[in-house]
Amino acid sequence: AKHKGKSSWERFAPAMKEVSHERLQMESRLRRALELDEFELWYQPIVETQTGRVTGAEALLRWKSPAMGLVMPDRFIPLAEETGMIIPIGRWVLEQACAAMGRVEQATGLALNISVNVSPRQFRDPEFVATTLQTLADTGMDPQRVELEITERLILDNTIETAAILNQLDTAGLRLSVDDFGTGFSALSYLKSYPFDTLKVDKSFIADVLVSVDDASLVRAIITMAHSLNLRVIAEGVEEDGQTRFLQDLRCDYAQGYFYSRPVPEAEFLDWLRASPR
Ligand code: C2E
Ligand code: CA
Ligand code: CA
Ligand code: CA
Repeated sequence: AKHKGKSSWERFAPAMKEVSHERLQMESRLRRALELDEFELWYQPIVETQTGRVTGAEALLRWKSPAMGLVMPDRFIPLAEETGMIIPIGRWVLEQACAAMGRVEQATGLALNISVNVSPRQFRDPEFVATTLQTLADTGMDPQRVELEITERLILDNTIETAAILNQLDTAGLRLSVDDFGTGFSALSYLKSYPFDTLKVDKSFIADVLVSVDDASLVRAIITMAHSLNLRVIAEGVEEDGQTRFLQDLRCDYAQGYFYSRPVPEAEFLDWLRASPR
């Protein structure tokens, strides 16, 4: 046998040690990233499907680590969640996003909506609602222009607290969207009991709408259902013209994806806005 004489512990121990060393190193780098100002927010436009007019943007976090280069969120958000670092990071994100929209308005005259991702750990922080409202007050941002994106998975977890928090945010005027809609394997009943405004149809459904009859039917059904519940729909991951036309036919409200623009740094986002249809 390949591993003759070695126990499974001996065989796996070195690999585990390596993984945990890597993790610890990443964790200590992440701990300092905020104070060292290594995070950056990039922006991806959200457009009206029928007209192509931009109505807002999603803020997407990037980590420029001197040691690791540009680190994408899928590589560090889970760790930030586990360690609780997502709480201060999330506050920073909202603050920066609101400030940036102020600059965008100054530069272009466009009062865009801003969508910000909220992860479960942040959402469960007892101070989440208070700090969120404080940040809006501090930056002078109109709550109606701020949309919090909450994944469908989070909504599944607990009910009473989730409802209370969502209701407080809704009462304060913020918009609430269900992110990655369709991936949570959840019952749909929450849609009528929670104050959501928007469904973001997961990009995995949009990817194949032109080639898969099933995916096309699902997207059609989601849009119809959402509209009958008075929810707006954003299609994520729109990469081609054909998908846009398909979504226009279905009266999908908004679209977002590489077809319009990739997420880009603020300066590039401003350039994109200046060239976009009004
Ligand atoms: P998400 O919220 O579903 O964000 C959309 C992701 O899809 C982004 O990946 C975006 O770059 C990518 N995307 C946009 N258009 C297209 C397209 O046309 N095709 C394809 N294939 N992908 C597209 P990104 O920026 O790597 O972010 C990954 C995830 O990390 C996000 O997924 C979100 O869950 C999380 N994340 C990003 N920023 C934040 C943040 O500030 N806070 C928290 N809590 N999570 C964040
Ligand atoms: Ca999102
Ligand atoms: Ca609402
Ligand atoms: Ca999403």
